[in-house]
Amino acid sequence: TTATARRPIRDLPDELISQIAAGEVVERPASVVRELVDNALDAGATQISVRLSAGGVRLITVEDDGSGIPQDELHVALRRHATSKIMNLNELETVATMGFRGEALAAIAAVSDMALLSRPAAQENAYALDARSGVLRPVARSPGTTVEVKELFFSTPARRKFLKTDATELAHCIESVRRHALARPDVGFAVWHEGRLVEQWRATFVPGQGDSRDALARRLSDVLGADFVAQSVALQHRAGPVTVTGRAGLPDTARARADHQYCYVNGRFVRDKVLSHAARSAYEDLLHGHKQPVYALYVEIDPARVDVNVHPTKIEVRFRDSREVHQAVRHALENALAVPRAAALGAADT
Ligand code: ADP
Ligand code: MG
Repeated sequence: TTATARRPIRDLPDELISQIAAGEVVERPASVVRELVDNALDAGATQISVRLSAGGVRLITVEDDGSGIPQDELHVALRRHATSKIMNLNELETVATMGFRGEALAAIAAVSDMALLSRPAAQENAYALDARSGVLRPVARSPGTTVEVKELFFSTPARRKFLKTDATELAHCIESVRRHALARPDVGFAVWHEGRLVEQWRATFVPGQGDSRDALARRLSDVLGADFVAQSVALQHRAGPVTVTGRAGLPDTARARADHQYCYVNGRFVRDKVLSHAARSAYEDLLHGHKQPVYALYVEIDPARVDVNVHPTKIEVRFRDSREVHQAVRHALENALAVPRAAALGAADT
């Protein structure tokens, strides 16, 4: 009896479809934080607060002062593949928002006990929608949105077993906010755990006023430490459709682990082999052994030249011409590291 009896082909129940889809987007509390902060940024928020309990497993609340969701759209926001961000293929190919797949809220709702509270400025009342019961009721709230996610994976115990300790999950949640914070010095972020403020990064500039490069340096200093800024060099390089900015740590600041390598493409945090290889090769003759350089790289490129629709979490991208990006990043870093390189080679000569 090795072969199992064949069973007829059936459509999956809707709830199971949602839970399967959720598995791709929501791996742990930090994935929820990432998606909700993405949404707050897409809504034009200037201040985002993340409140966590038990490392985010028991409760995640993300509150923003963004555009809000009108009362009559709250139900729609929870549906799979429902989005306000794109309407057609052309808009997909040039998308500039963090989200566009219309999956996150549906996915989170499928594996937690979720509530959406929102008020657009033009609407007098805020409304709260309980995802499970579908009950909608008026509540008091200033304009903006709050998403409350309770008991993550309570209905999918197999998933819940993969979670690590609260402390580890909390660290991942903070890292998720840190990645956003490094891309958006114009937005204030706060993270609370069990009612205690654990991280706070204030907005360092107002767009259109002041120098955005100073603001970025200040945010990098707040998030990665004053030492990082003091021991790094600014990057500024433009090659055709690719612009690279950011800061590169001096060779002495290289670490055992590659945990301080932040790469962004059009404001989105990514893990990308083209970028990390380009960086690695720029540092090649400056680092000994397996030391990992420290850097924050911001690549700006025509959205039509990069495909962000590769992975449900959008952490991977595909460049239309990866050589042009590789060269731009490598040159940006080599230019910035020219002085430290000359010093290192000079020292080696003597
Ligand atoms: P996506 O971000 O891909 O559009 P989501 O499931 O994350 O999909 O969100 C669905 C929709 O709900 C969004 O397109 C947006 O219109 C609305 N929305 C979600 N979160 C917020 C928020 N914090 N502020 C305003 N609108 C929001
Ligand atoms: Mg989203």
